[in-house]
Amino acid sequence: MSTDLLDEFVRAIPMPALMVDQTERIIAANTDATTLLGLNIVGRHFATILRQPQVLEAIEQSLQSKSTKKTRHLSNDGAQDTTFEVECRYMNGIGAVSGGAILATFQDITHLEHASQMRRDFVANVSHELRTPLTALMGFIETLRGPARDDPGARDRFLQIMTDEANRMNRLVGDLLSLNRVESEERVRPSEQLELTGLLQSILNSVRPLAEDAGVDLTLEAQDGPVSVTGDSDQLRQVFTNLIENGIKYGGSGGNVLVRVLSMDRDTAMRGPSVRVQVIDRGPGIDPIHLPRLTERFYRADSHRSRQLGGTGLGLAIVKHIVNRHRGRLRVESELGKGSVFTVILPT
Ligand code: ADP
Repeated sequence: MSTDLLDEFVRAIPMPALMVDQTERIIAANTDATTLLGLNIVGRHFATILRQPQVLEAIEQSLQSKSTKKTRHLSNDGAQDTTFEVECRYMNGIGAVSGGAILATFQDITHLEHASQMRRDFVANVSHELRTPLTALMGFIETLRGPARDDPGARDRFLQIMTDEANRMNRLVGDLLSLNRVESEERVRPSEQLELTGLLQSILNSVRPLAEDAGVDLTLEAQDGPVSVTGDSDQLRQVFTNLIENGIKYGGSGGNVLVRVLSMDRDTAMRGPSVRVQVIDRGPGIDPIHLPRLTERFYRADSHRSRQLGGTGLGLAIVKHIVNRHRGRLRVESELGKGSVFTVILPT
């Protein structure tokens, strides 16, 4: 291959790419490669440019064994880390001496690394969340077999705690399955026509016992007449149940949870007509530092309170995914000491 053809060929590769021949010099490099590794690299010995030991080794081995070798190259441009998968392919009939060269391509795999890190964190979090109630259950089983065996009072108390812990595990597994289902459906837009005020009324009826136990008044404020949206009624029920239950659980000290429905002819957030459902409480509110991360899986603003109330830390993550599926928006506004407003905006 002539030098011109070789340059053209390497330039056409849509990622950083360079060639190293048997003399161990770089004989061609494209612009992406010079952006990554520096200008004027052609003609230089590869070891003066690529200093990471695993990359040097892969190129050397590939040249010697005339085979393909893969490795990682890590780069940092001062702002962020980038991970590349380097593939060194041996090509016959190219290069100055004895006709053979390595084509090294650098594929940016940062997003894949990020996704696998997230997966690892998720598995670690799930294991931790499951292990906590499991450890309690195992401890109480031991105690019931041993010291508490003939103590009916202790037995009842422990069985109650065991029931609570088993319920916690059950809720966690239920929420995990729910999250999984919602995530897998996220790209499929729902098509059912439903009436929102009736749905909210029915949710308020079902959570009223919880509100009464907590001494919280529930109020629905909506325009007269039906408010129709296109959506998935089971999933929207889940969204508003989660938000209203959170309002009662975390904001109940304010004494009232208000659900407000607002129809908007032209919503700036949606660039068109929409309906906004706000769940407003007058409780302790949420510190602003927590707001950006509130919809992350297992993120809790007040871990102690969440666990005390049997929370799984997945409720708002599920809400967020369902709202995304409806091409809607979730907004959280809160002020410490004044309460919180969770707004779901749905296109109509
Ligand atoms: P959980 O299962 O812990 O309730 P969520 O995902 O539903 O999980 O909520 C995440 C966290 O957000 C909660 O642990 C709580 O700290 C905080 N939070 C949610 N809603 C409210 C609210 N209305 N007022 C104060 N804090 C809230």
